[in-house]
Amino acid sequence: MSGTYLGMPAFPEAAREAVGNRILRDNLRHATHTIRAKRAKAVAEVSDWAELREAGKRIKDHTLRHLDRYLERLEESVTAAGGVVHWAADAAEANEIVTELVKMTGESEVVKVKSMATQEIGLNEALEAAGIRAYETDLAELIVQLGKDRPSHILVPAIHRNRGEIRDIFRSEMSEWGRPAPEGLTDTPAELAEAARLHLREKFLRAKVGISGANFMVAETGTMVVVESEGNGRMCLTLPETLISVVGIEKIVPTWRDLEVFLQTLPRSSTAERMNPYTSTWTGTTDQDGPGTFHLVLLDNGRSDTLADEVGRQALRCIRCSACLNVCPVYERAGGHAYGSVYPGPIGAILSPQLRGTGSEIDASLPYASSLCGACYEVCPVAIDIPEVLVHLRERVVEGGEATRAGNKVVLRPAKGHAAERAAMRAARWAFTHPGVLRTGQRAASRTRRFHPRTLPGPGRAWSGSRDLPPVPAEPFRDWWQRTRGQKGGAE
Ligand code: SF4
Repeated sequence: MSGTYLGMPAFPEAAREAVGNRILRDNLRHATHTIRAKRAKAVAEVSDWAELREAGKRIKDHTLRHLDRYLERLEESVTAAGGVVHWAADAAEANEIVTELVKMTGESEVVKVKSMATQEIGLNEALEAAGIRAYETDLAELIVQLGKDRPSHILVPAIHRNRGEIRDIFRSEMSEWGRPAPEGLTDTPAELAEAARLHLREKFLRAKVGISGANFMVAETGTMVVVESEGNGRMCLTLPETLISVVGIEKIVPTWRDLEVFLQTLPRSSTAERMNPYTSTWTGTTDQDGPGTFHLVLLDNGRSDTLADEVGRQALRCIRCSACLNVCPVYERAGGHAYGSVYPGPIGAILSPQLRGTGSEIDASLPYASSLCGACYEVCPVAIDIPEVLVHLRERVVEGGEATRAGNKVVLRPAKGHAAERAAMRAARWAFTHPGVLRTGQRAASRTRRFHPRTLPGPGRAWSGSRDLPPVPAEPFRDWWQRTRGQKGGAE
């Protein structure tokens, strides 16, 4: 993923700063509670929501199971419709392809539709290094870009900013990127939106190259789909002469019939709308209508590795609605930046360690950034069992060592931390595989139970401080069984 996040500290450390920032906490609390209440109302209107959710899950699982077949079908359809398909194994390759494509047009600036995939690969930074300026056109992305900031939410990347902060950013930064903010700009939503509209309009009209992602790709016709609320996407997708779309390979659906399900569940789950204000679809190129050249860059970047994991692969069902972020008690307090990735919140905690491996401090800590309350699973429109994947990834971090990605391969190396925990598990395994030792230990524990401490000493204090140690019975179960049933307890 983007180099912006390299060297991030582990989640607890990164979150500490955010938790201590009262303004940030207020902004997040207000925004997440508002969106979550609206979503609940919008979902309650649909009588067959549970069936839609199940249908979405099944479609995604089926498509992922036959991903190779559907991707080939998509390539054929896009090519037949006049588009050009490129395959990118990782971020570096995708950035190289896009940079070359832009250079071939002779342009030095591009307009962008909000896209998680291009943020994931750090495309803006790669283009900048090649002397190409990328302009974000989604309002929240514009705020993030002008503020030299990082997104903190999938749907509302500037959720951590309030109106006053946005006004200040517009006033001080807009002139550096193009049309300055109007004189006397206030923090009323209408004035802020108008300032952004004026600033962006001249970029839309000038740009010859547009860059987008896609929410969905329909294999049967080679159609790309972008859903958005502001109309900036429609401008980027129709006005430039060349359009380049960078899309993760998991965004594919087989047919339009399948798409229908997600066009119902996505808007209600994300913006709490009954339908999306702007749903743009395009299929290759059409003479005299929209971009004359279309390139599709299909991005792997760790998705094949994720697909190979039977438990973890369900993360690839995600349609990036952000409902899980808005109900998460950890996200609400820690904010998005602490997750060290463009994918914050519960989905980020299971997606980033799979796409990037758990080799860095931040990625090894993300599976622990959850209370496992299950609220994320309840609201997920494709029924991703996030708590299940979190526990699975914790197991990977503790038991399997750290998985790191070398090129496009996952490499396992021994874990550095958790030495005491691993030693305790090894001792437990030894005792459980030596029944005589286990029996002697149980009897000794029963006889000395009055002298057992209520809390553990040393580093174990933190663990026992928040838990009640179970009382040791006066008589071990096996002895009780033998005494009352006259049989030997358990296999020896
Ligand atoms: S995991 Fe589910 S709830 Fe979270 S963003 Fe993805 S689809 Fe939405």
